[in-house]
Amino acid sequence: MPMSTNIDTANSAEKSTDDTNTDEQKSLLNILEDMNKGKEQLEDQRVAMFNILEDVNIAQDALERKYKELDVIESLTQQLGLSLKLNTIMSRISDSILTLYPTVTVAYIIAPFDSYDFSKKVYVNSLNSVGNQYIRELSNGLALSLSTVPELVKLKNSAKQWIMNTPEFSFVKGQRDNSKTAIPKSMINVPLVVPDTLVGMVNISSVDQDFFTLEVKRMIYTLISTSVQTIDRIKKLISAEHSRLQSLIESMSNGVVMFDADENIVVANPKIRSVIQKNTGKLSLDDIFSYFEQNLTKNEVDENTFVSLSDAVEKAITTTETVHIKEFPLGRKYFEIFVTPVYGDQKETAGGAIILHDITELKEIDRMKSEFVSVASHQLRTPLTAINWYVEMLQAGDAGELNKEQKDFLDEIYNGSTRMVKLVNDLLNVSRIETGRLKIEPVPMQLETFIKNIIHELEVMAREHLSTVLFVKPEKSLPKIAIDETLMRQVVHNLITNAIRYSTAEASTITVMLSQKENTYVISVSDSGIGIPKEVQGRIFEKFYRADNAREKEAEGSGIGLYIAKMIVEESGGTLRFESPNAFRTIKGEKEGYGATFFLSLPTTGMKAHAGERSLSNK
Ligand code: ADP
Repeated sequence: MPMSTNIDTANSAEKSTDDTNTDEQKSLLNILEDMNKGKEQLEDQRVAMFNILEDVNIAQDALERKYKELDVIESLTQQLGLSLKLNTIMSRISDSILTLYPTVTVAYIIAPFDSYDFSKKVYVNSLNSVGNQYIRELSNGLALSLSTVPELVKLKNSAKQWIMNTPEFSFVKGQRDNSKTAIPKSMINVPLVVPDTLVGMVNISSVDQDFFTLEVKRMIYTLISTSVQTIDRIKKLISAEHSRLQSLIESMSNGVVMFDADENIVVANPKIRSVIQKNTGKLSLDDIFSYFEQNLTKNEVDENTFVSLSDAVEKAITTTETVHIKEFPLGRKYFEIFVTPVYGDQKETAGGAIILHDITELKEIDRMKSEFVSVASHQLRTPLTAINWYVEMLQAGDAGELNKEQKDFLDEIYNGSTRMVKLVNDLLNVSRIETGRLKIEPVPMQLETFIKNIIHELEVMAREHLSTVLFVKPEKSLPKIAIDETLMRQVVHNLITNAIRYSTAEASTITVMLSQKENTYVISVSDSGIGIPKEVQGRIFEKFYRADNAREKEAEGSGIGLYIAKMIVEESGGTLRFESPNAFRTIKGEKEGYGATFFLSLPTTGMKAHAGERSLSNK
């Protein structure tokens, strides 16, 4: 703006030069003053800013420290939950203290949980090496603080004794270094009391005179008291669990004994005491073993398979598997026995449990049932034979000519009584097998011929069911094998008739295959029938068991055939098992399994002979 400049120049030209000078100086001074003031204010603000920043920093530090402390406490609490051994707990507490204060040395002594009988061992935990003098000082510190604990003073001065006997030192972390001469300049001792029992004493020491500020002490006490609370909680939980278990075991009708890793009995309930007739006094596993040995009813066990109770305990502990003795005859009683190993927190065997289940009554009921079945079936056989005999005579026209209707009725009677004879025979066979009276007399024979004959016999039945039975033999004919023909016929006959009866698809094919697998001959019978539902597969070999789908398909059936078959096969050294489904098909987009295959395996050495009174009844 050139115009205004000109005017200004004109105005100032009217004033004297001196005046002009003073005015200029004044305003300059004013400006300088203002600037100075501004600078001071700025400086103040800067300082204030710095102060604030510093405060923030300090707060931040404190906050971080708090977080770290919380972290340490939290992880310690979690770790403590995993252990019950005071030793482990103490080493974790001292580790946590070292995490927060890496320069200190932590030392502690511990007692067994429920007594003041302290070990003479001082555990030392430090991130550095520690000299002799240092160790001596801290153990004196520990001993001194122990000697002031009122309970210990009362208890025959055991703490003082402990001071006199040189303790052993064991390093958790760090090591002894004789060349170090530093000594502790400050230390604190914290007793470990759970909840009113003194179980340990912790000593924390430092080479720094002023290390244990109020805040550090507060933190260490917090750490230790948190741990103590956790231990207390765990102890309470365990004792509650223990008393619950104890009362459960006490009231059990089964005999229960629990023992520790040194085979000392921890729990024995009244039932087990009454079994071995020792109702009072200390009980040892040996007492139980020797009672079982002396009272074993020897003539009722098979020497080859017998397992004694002490063997069972030994086996359970070494194999870490439950040992099951199905039947142990003891005096006039019978017991089913389970021996189960118990594991510690490191998966090591911590002991075990013996459970005795009295099955005397069950056995008696079973025996009575078998006896009843045996007597009843014997009594039924005679009249049935008479019925069949007279029906045959009537059919043959021995009592005069019969008309068509009369003949049909007689056929029905004959069918019915034949089925009844079969059932009675099955029942008799069950009782023979169960009482061990079945004799097995193997004679060498050609398996191919044997199977072919049975299939041939069943051709009519198969045709009636629109089924075909195929026989697949090995390419090279097998050598003769010793089998009891009557018994084995019963088994194979049962498998093939089942395959025919439970077949569904029209014109279905049943495949019987003979093959050799290593040391066994396998006869498999495969069908494409109703199959065996998964949920009942475990019950198929049970006496009298029939699956629902089988009942629907075939109303007739006793559920005894497979039971007898399995007994015969197993008695003679073979195995019988099945797979179902053995095939899949898609119906309306859904994949569905069907069919069953039974596998009968016999050792190539043939069936084992068994001396007995009777063979099977078939007629
Ligand atoms: P039963 O055939 O007289 O019922 P079994 O002892 O021979 O008696 O068979 C027991 C049960 O096993 C049958 O009721 C049936 O549920 C099942 N089962 C046996 N064989 C077959 C098969 N081939 N297919 C499907 N289910 C079978």
